[in-house]
Amino acid sequence: MRLACFLKKYFRTIFLSLTLGIILLHVTLNRIPNEAEVHFLDVGQGDSILIVTPSLQTVLIDGGPGEKVLEELGALLPFFVREIDMIVLTHPHSDHLEGLTEAMKRYGVRHVLLAGDAYGSRTYQEFLKTINEKSLAGEIAVHFASKGSDFAVPFEENSGLFFDTLYPIENIAGKEIDNTNNASVVLKMSPIIGQFVDISKNIPNGYLKGENGLFKTKINAESLPGQTFLFTGDCEIECEEEILHHYKFDTDSAGQNILQSDILKVGHHGSRTATSQAFLDVILPGIAVIQSGVDNKFDHPHDETVQKLKNANVKIRENTDEGRITLPVEFWRRDV
Ligand SMILES: [Zn+2]
Repeated sequence: MRLACFLKKYFRTIFLSLTLGIILLHVTLNRIPNEAEVHFLDVGQGDSILIVTPSLQTVLIDGGPGEKVLEELGALLPFFVREIDMIVLTHPHSDHLEGLTEAMKRYGVRHVLLAGDAYGSRTYQEFLKTINEKSLAGEIAVHFASKGSDFAVPFEENSGLFFDTLYPIENIAGKEIDNTNNASVVLKMSPIIGQFVDISKNIPNGYLKGENGLFKTKINAESLPGQTFLFTGDCEIECEEEILHHYKFDTDSAGQNILQSDILKVGHHGSRTATSQAFLDVILPGIAVIQSGVDNKFDHPHDETVQKLKNANVKIRENTDEGRITLPVEFWRRDV
């Protein structure tokens, strides 16, 4: 009788709470992807790419200008995800860096990968100071990018995503570079199968020197058939030439150049100073994603670049047309 009275009295409240609970659960579950996804975020004139795995590991490559990235992260990640596993700063220009600084205020971050070249802006100095302090407090591991500072994000028994750091070739931390665009961290992401070791727990506090292979987290791994992505930051023709030169003889088991990638994040917002014909001829992308802002003052993307991509029959996807662009990582499990 008492229970009946209670239920009668509080029926509305119980009903509303249950409904709200179901809605919240539905929204949360909807945000957990069944397969890894790459989101080219809608952040205006700048780059920002979020990779989310089915087990909710996250890699954020650049943060775009201002705070827009926070809206994007809020819309994509379930509310209980309070940590980003890896942030990558391709280079210190504000259209890549500002949003990362904001994201670090809102989310915990486990790893940071950056070239670390000397650059005088105040935002960059503050960013370095923040990661240095967090590193000394043991909250974050800092990695300076060079060929071999690769990392893997395992998410299913024996499979995951492998990030091959292609550029800079050498460690350039602390060095002054004429044009920091050409010191951009360039990563190729591929699905892999194999055994993984989580060495993140073994990373000592403090700055890491960026030795080759320091945080390589795969062993006995091999490529899985699936889509590959090339993230180029603002790498311009000079940097593309160095990459082409350095990897010209490196081929995979199918005899393809290792640079070949199905999806290309077009370098430097589609500027004419990037995406040389020679680079396109080796990358051979099926899809090219251009991140730039509507009516930006640089006139990005430049017509020459767009035309070059069209002539090569590459499907062009642009944030200015579509807002956020989400591409699933198509990934085929092989019977082993
Ligand atoms: Zn840029």
